[in-house]
Amino acid sequence: MKIKANNANSPIWKDIYSHSMLPEQLQPLYEMATNLWWVWNHEGAKLFGKIDPELWASTEGNPVLLLQSLSYKRIEEILADDVLMAEIKAVYSIFKDYVNVKPDQTKPSVAYFSMEYGLTNVLKIYSGGLGVLAGDYLKEASDSNIDLTAVGFLYRYGYFTQSLSMEGQQIANYEPQNFNALPLTQVMQANGEPMVLEVPYPGRTVYAHIWKVSVGRVPLYLMDTDIPQNSEWDRSITHQLYGGDWENRMKQEYLLGIGGILMLNKLGIKKQIYHCNEGHAALINAQRLVDYIQNDNLSFNQALEVVRASALYTVHTPVPAGHDYFDEGLFGRYMGEFPGKLGISWQEFIDMGRENPGSNEKFSMSVFALNTCQEANGVSWLHGKVSQRMFAPVWKGYFPDELHVGYVTNGVHMPTWASTEWKRFFAENFNKKFFKDQSNKLYWEAIQNVADEDIWAIRKTLKNKLIKYIKNQYKTNWLKNQGDPAKVVSILDKINPNALLIGFGRRFATYKRAHLLFTDLDRLAKIVNNEQYPIQFVFTGKAHPADGGGQGLIKHIVEISRRPEFLGKIIFLENYDMRLARHLIAGVDVWLNTPTRPLEASGTSGEKAEMNGVLNFSVLDGWWYEGYKQGAGWALTDKRTYENQQYQDQLDAAT
Ligand SMILES: *Cc1c(COP(=O)(O)O)cnc(C)c1O
Repeated sequence: MKIKANNANSPIWKDIYSHSMLPEQLQPLYEMATNLWWVWNHEGAKLFGKIDPELWASTEGNPVLLLQSLSYKRIEEILADDVLMAEIKAVYSIFKDYVNVKPDQTKPSVAYFSMEYGLTNVLKIYSGGLGVLAGDYLKEASDSNIDLTAVGFLYRYGYFTQSLSMEGQQIANYEPQNFNALPLTQVMQANGEPMVLEVPYPGRTVYAHIWKVSVGRVPLYLMDTDIPQNSEWDRSITHQLYGGDWENRMKQEYLLGIGGILMLNKLGIKKQIYHCNEGHAALINAQRLVDYIQNDNLSFNQALEVVRASALYTVHTPVPAGHDYFDEGLFGRYMGEFPGKLGISWQEFIDMGRENPGSNEKFSMSVFALNTCQEANGVSWLHGKVSQRMFAPVWKGYFPDELHVGYVTNGVHMPTWASTEWKRFFAENFNKKFFKDQSNKLYWEAIQNVADEDIWAIRKTLKNKLIKYIKNQYKTNWLKNQGDPAKVVSILDKINPNALLIGFGRRFATYKRAHLLFTDLDRLAKIVNNEQYPIQFVFTGKAHPADGGGQGLIKHIVEISRRPEFLGKIIFLENYDMRLARHLIAGVDVWLNTPTRPLEASGTSGEKAEMNGVLNFSVLDGWWYEGYKQGAGWALTDKRTYENQQYQDQLDAAT
């Protein structure tokens, strides 16, 4: 979707370089606010909560905005509060001990490229699973002391905020971000002016500012083209995540790949491994080839060997149609000068992105990634197999399992997704080394020595917290948008902490089959209205603004939730984001997922639920194919009974 100027709120700020007005003694707070360490280290978040509880809530947990908004009076109070000042000092010391550890030089260093990063809700530069995975990788790299630098975009409008019309139609709001109120810092030159990256585009230069997000010990550099040096046409390159037309996508992927490498060059950063998170970033290898040929006098073939040996590609999309393909004309307009720089012909160059060299296929970013990265991986065991078959035509004459296509099953960053209650529990009951070595099965066995009642008590606490969160967050909103106040209040009152609570939250892509539950409404009504064993469902998720099918599903579920027999039994919560996800995956009893097999490449939200002792109910697809164990959750079979997907859907729904 292309946003029209009149659909977007216009930013009202100017370029002002703000300086923190905090007194010297409170500078450690600013230093901690601009490092995302607080996102997964509870001491940090708790401290900001104490600095000003109301601001912490009203800024939705943005410590930079909180510090900028502190009143003079509150600052005086803090300075006079010896207990709080001592706590600031204590937390700062833990923080410094963490960030001062130098990266482990015995492990390979990595440059990581991604269109999106889900690190915290405060930074709206993510849309879904791929971004949250990238964010979790950075946090885990930090905790594991990996020498990693990441590259992405600082979006002016980010991904959209979702609200619903009275009829249940999704409304996408693009809210401009004020970068100076976010937990990041701008990269400056020695003279105090912003550093400007110059990226050669056809017939012009595109300029970008560089922002740095500190993710514990790991730096993430974000490019921002929304600056006056650029034409309007180029300022919008970093306006939206997954927005605009194909040309905009081309401009974005050019910036991520070519611009990303030029940015690292400018910052003097060189790594041993270059990782493309999805094919979006594959053009890094075009620029890396140019660099080796121009700076190191390598031939094209030599440069290709070096680039391939140091590049990795992670594929997330199990269907060919989900990949990026560019028309030769469009691709040529942007990449036309590259063959000259590489010393090859245009035909040879574009063929690097074709399954069938010499054909007139569009240029595939994924095929280019495969041809320039020695290793490729899917994101679960099953998805690895699917990817081998999907990519088989690229290497003719080989069997799929002979290909350099493997898998690394997606994981989640436990300290981000386990609730504070569980982290406290782990600290009390598990070996002290557990937090540093969560993959050690022996440490987990300590769970067997814990009384069931203790586990159940945490589960009940988290469920009550979720219900309270829903009531607080949604009441005002619903009263504003959904008419009848009596109805809104009655929905919220009907939420019963003693009913089995089943949660479903993810992008509303049609393959996720959010509608499956609603196949037999009479039967569903009987289930949710069973007085002895009541059940409630909470649904949440955004549909891409260009995905009419996904938006239709949301509308359908909202309509059903408004019927008398489902009122308060099926609840749709707007604006699924990392904040809601954290509450939801920890607070429900069962986490439901119903994808069409094998289209859920991995899925990660179910793993977040596991971190909180929540049971999964899912199709044996993605990570659950490996994670499911009889008696520990529920699985819809991996046997495909029907060729016809509609019949298969009906069977799965009935099951
Ligand atoms: C974890 C997460 C996702 C990805 O969940 P899947 O189960 O992979 O669909 C999407 N959105 C948000 C906000 C998340 O936190």
